[in-house]
Amino acid sequence: MFVSESLSVDERGVLCIGGANAIDIAKEFGTPVYVMDEDLIRKNCRIYKDAMDKHYGGNGLVLYASKAFSCKRMVKIVKEEGLGLDVVSGGELYTAIKADFPMEKVYFHGNNKTEDELSLAVTSGVGTIVVDNIFELEKLNTIAENKGKTVNIMFRIKPGIDAHTHEFVMTGQIDSKFGVALETGEAMEAYKTAKQMKNLNIVGVHCHIGSQIFDIQPFEHAASVMMGFIADLKAEGIKIEQMNLGGGYGIKYVPEDNPIDYDAYIEAVSKVVKKVAAEKGIEMPKILMEPGRSIVASAGATLYKIGGVKEIPDVRTYVSVDGGMADNPRFIMYGSKYHALLANNPLAQPEKEVTIAGKCCESGDLLIKDIKMPKLKAGDILAVLATGAYNYSMASNYNRIPRPPVVMVSGGKPSLAVKRETYEDIIKNDI
Ligand SMILES: *Cc1c(COP(=O)(O)O)cnc(C)c1O
Repeated sequence: MFVSESLSVDERGVLCIGGANAIDIAKEFGTPVYVMDEDLIRKNCRIYKDAMDKHYGGNGLVLYASKAFSCKRMVKIVKEEGLGLDVVSGGELYTAIKADFPMEKVYFHGNNKTEDELSLAVTSGVGTIVVDNIFELEKLNTIAENKGKTVNIMFRIKPGIDAHTHEFVMTGQIDSKFGVALETGEAMEAYKTAKQMKNLNIVGVHCHIGSQIFDIQPFEHAASVMMGFIADLKAEGIKIEQMNLGGGYGIKYVPEDNPIDYDAYIEAVSKVVKKVAAEKGIEMPKILMEPGRSIVASAGATLYKIGGVKEIPDVRTYVSVDGGMADNPRFIMYGSKYHALLANNPLAQPEKEVTIAGKCCESGDLLIKDIKMPKLKAGDILAVLATGAYNYSMASNYNRIPRPPVVMVSGGKPSLAVKRETYEDIIKNDI
């Protein structure tokens, strides 16, 4: 029922997130509100870091994929935990700059980085650019040359792997907009071209096969294929120091989900990497990984106030809340599943199947289709669980709805990390 270890029930029978009373948070900060358990975020960072240290003898680095959830406070947490940072846009990079993140630990991704974004990255001293294609490679070399700098790069590679996940979040196969393909020789050509470029320094290889993956096997497969490619590059006189295996580890959204234990995953992959290194006679590269969702998703919950309840006899009961696809577009985009609890009485017996609907003008604007809930009435507070990733970061102002605030809970104490947008914010760029 409680899909995340952040959740508990206090002596009054009220839901707590990171030890803080959810009803008090809803009262103090209003609804809808994103609540993040900072202690769990830090714990997840440490689980990854410790597992990498253990299985790669310290020769590894965990990069937090900031597209899952980024704001200055989050970037500061990542910095304090000693992780690196993966950014995919000028905006995410700017957030990192403003949060004083060490730029040498930033990796810049994206399949169509603009000239402005690349310039900002080069000027601000981003550690490594993960180059997507030859067009970008040439553009980057010119920018670096004009600025008199040498830039570290790795290519994003499509290793040709089916990650058994949703089509929209599957990225390792040849028919993908991301990266250069291995099996066609495109990737090898890209490295040979890069080697000739004076202002670029090849440091590694990168792949990311998809997201919300529950099997270990596709990750093992990817690691093996990528190590094979490193051996091929070595034969061509191109030395690779880093192998970045991306993110994509699944999390528990609903009670039936069974995510892999991250330490077990890292151990399994490390065995493959060491085995191939020995077989092919190549040195162990520094291993990088980029978890996003699995660092923050379970640490988050969104609190909504319930409004109208619409019973359509023999059809369905719609329970509407004061948010929806503008703060959580994942149902409308992917048909994603979520679990919810009645925050004012999370232990109440579920008695009726309902559908939780948002307030936007789209009939597809649902948060949860068909969930068995206790009796819900107007004014109740509903907690939709595991919303820490790809919710705030994907939120929009659809219907000119201001984005909710983000409240972070540390040591049981809630505090504001991102303010609620106002109507003035909504019109501030209107001329
Ligand atoms: C999205 C993404 C990640 C993070 O994926 P999660 O599923 O959130 O762990 C990591 N690396 C790259 C390149 C990505 O695009």
